[in-house]
Amino acid sequence: MRVVLLGTGDSPGTPVIGCHCRTCENARKYGWERRRFSVLVENNGKVLVIDTSPDLRYQLLRMNVERVEAVIWTHCHYDHFAGFGDFYRVQDDVKVYTSPEVHEDIGRYMDFMKYKAIEVESYEPFEIIGLKVTLIDVNHPPLRRAHGIVLEWNGYKISISGDTNINIPERSLEEMKNPDLFVVEALAPKFHFRKHMNAEEAMLLSKKVNAKKAVLTHMSHFFPPHNVALKSYPVGHDFQTFEFGKEKCNLSNFIE
Ligand SMILES: [Zn+2]
Ligand SMILES: [Zn+2]
Ligand SMILES: [Zn+2]
Repeated sequence: MRVVLLGTGDSPGTPVIGCHCRTCENARKYGWERRRFSVLVENNGKVLVIDTSPDLRYQLLRMNVERVEAVIWTHCHYDHFAGFGDFYRVQDDVKVYTSPEVHEDIGRYMDFMKYKAIEVESYEPFEIIGLKVTLIDVNHPPLRRAHGIVLEWNGYKISISGDTNINIPERSLEEMKNPDLFVVEALAPKFHFRKHMNAEEAMLLSKKVNAKKAVLTHMSHFFPPHNVALKSYPVGHDFQTFEFGKEKCNLSNFIE
């Protein structure tokens, strides 16, 4: 089983169009990017995509994905669902899982696509491509509903925070506990946000849930250039891959 961070950027991505800050200029100069948020999970050759970023076409082509078994949407924000149409045009039988509220909200934008909507509830596990999947509630105001996701497979656990501020319900913290890998959002190193965490909060949360390994995602250009940020925080990068199940806990990172 493997988990691939398809995109580790926030909603405008890095570099930001028209921005000439140090990070955006560094990204242009050295040819790195933070694309929008999607996570690919592969098990036995089958693919689950968590959130369908506006960069999804590039991300799936780059990974040589030929078919997606299922999609989970975490919440109704443009950077998490807008790429759905990119592969719906070539594969219209994908099953899409999320809570009724998120289906209703995103459904308004997807009115012209008759996709297979499957309603699931937080804290009620279900199975996709041989993995146990549990949605949890997180806190991403002003949205009425936003989710994190817990994946379990063969004794391994991967917790994904989703877009959230630090005020995550106790029950969700309990559900995310003791992950082998914690994919946690951090919009910037330090500033405070109503909707999001900063890197300090993300690291605190990683400690709180007792994560064996944490990787930051959903990062903006407020982070320093990738190589500089890496010295202070476990910042992820696009197409970073974590493999599970080869021998014991064999987490391997491939730098692109
Ligand atoms: Zn910038
Ligand atoms: Zn969001
Ligand atoms: Zn987002």
